[in-house]
Amino acid sequence: MIPVPSFANKRVAVMGLGVAGLATARALAASGADVLAWDDAEAGRTAAAAAGIAATDLGAVDWTADLPLVLSPGIPDVFPAPHPVAAAARAAKAEILCDIELLARSVPSATCVTVTGTNGKSTTTALIGHILRAAGRRVEVGGNFGPPALGLEPLDAGGIYVLELSSYQLDRTYSLRAQATVLLNIAEDHLERHGGLDGYIAAKRRTFDLAAPNATVVVGVDDPEARALASQAEEAGQTVIRVSGRKHVEGGVGVLDGILRDDTADGSGSAGVPVDPGGTTALRGAHNHQNAAAAWAACRALGVTPETVAAAFATFSGLPHRQERVGEASDGGRTVSFVNDSKATNAVASARALSAYDNIFWIAGGRGKQGGYAALAPALAGLRGAFLIGEDAPAIARFLAGAAPTLPVTVSGTLDRAVTDAWTAATSEDAPANSVILLSPACASFDQFANFGARGDAFRKSARNLIARNPIDGNPIDHTRGAA
Ligand code: ADP
Repeated sequence: MIPVPSFANKRVAVMGLGVAGLATARALAASGADVLAWDDAEAGRTAAAAAGIAATDLGAVDWTADLPLVLSPGIPDVFPAPHPVAAAARAAKAEILCDIELLARSVPSATCVTVTGTNGKSTTTALIGHILRAAGRRVEVGGNFGPPALGLEPLDAGGIYVLELSSYQLDRTYSLRAQATVLLNIAEDHLERHGGLDGYIAAKRRTFDLAAPNATVVVGVDDPEARALASQAEEAGQTVIRVSGRKHVEGGVGVLDGILRDDTADGSGSAGVPVDPGGTTALRGAHNHQNAAAAWAACRALGVTPETVAAAFATFSGLPHRQERVGEASDGGRTVSFVNDSKATNAVASARALSAYDNIFWIAGGRGKQGGYAALAPALAGLRGAFLIGEDAPAIARFLAGAAPTLPVTVSGTLDRAVTDAWTAATSEDAPANSVILLSPACASFDQFANFGARGDAFRKSARNLIARNPIDGNPIDHTRGAA
């Protein structure tokens, strides 16, 4: 836990007592702050009480400018409509913060690396942490992914925090000064929370404001919005390294056909580093090549040698629910791989997964996002069938009817049913000899599951049942890697 000494003996409100809010309330209380903690849900208040934090109804508080509000990233303070507590705090000119801001104020001498973007944040954050550890650095990894900011361990000047930042957290962080900052990409997601694409881009751009004056700013240039932001940062005098997962970049870091080339001024000796030898590692696919290029640039900026980064790529095991390979089953001479990409909660993320395989029996659906499904259109060639679940199944079916009119589409409804339907199709007589049953929903999970992790766990369980009953060559496969 990170102590927050600047709040000792001060009143501070904490709204939202999920994992991060609770860690924040506990860190503040342990630092001697007078914590007014609240969650609209009883479960949050009960969890807080169990941790010795009494609930105070923040709806009934007399807000003043000297009562800061640490607002959970999940609770809106502007779009689509401010939560009443946030509105009251704002009207009283109280500061609205998040836990990342408290971390920044509490460990000013530690080095920070931040990662943001629409897709690939967690993978890149974990990869940077993995590389820095391999380089023998003292590292804490968390934020929007993994342990919440204030649940991390305190680090002094030699330590490095690798922090994944969501756009909501960027909106509520002010004094962080990262030594390296990564902006991977920008695609339509969470638009309702930012008042449209411009608001979302503005939130992402804040990542540059949170960089130290001498920081290295790493920006993905595989989409036009992020490309434009790279130019803006450069025009503002920042040191920008452009990275790509699809091409080599003049003056930057890019991966083409799995080979990374560092063309920055200090890129000597790194003319061709294989990122994903054989195309079978946890860093397969152009999207992961973008993540690898970004991690390379950030770690090189912190002084890690090219040899150490290259060696660490090979030992990175990936994250659960991100194109996680669950295992293979076979029936009637047909081999079926199961891939859990439950974390793909928007069309752009799913398009990446669909582009990474052939002969896909695709399970998709859930609660639709505002960006729609058009981004999937270029990625449908490998599909052999689609099995749709959840609220947005009809909308995806309509999209597929237009974009892939000959594709067999089944509205399965539930995930269990979809796995069974996909297995039946993938092992039917006219199915290819090798195929993939891919859960990559392109939707949020909240209509049917607590979160994307629960959805991925359910898929893994169904897949493992089929794998146990239909082992390849009669041998059950060890598919323990990647368990949640
Ligand atoms: P985030 O934390 O930003 O949600 P993750 O690393 O958890 O990103 O990956 C989520 C999904 O997004 C993965 O399942 C993968 O299919 C896709 N993805 C990963 N990296 C990228 C990238 N650089 N660009 C686009 N999509 C990506």
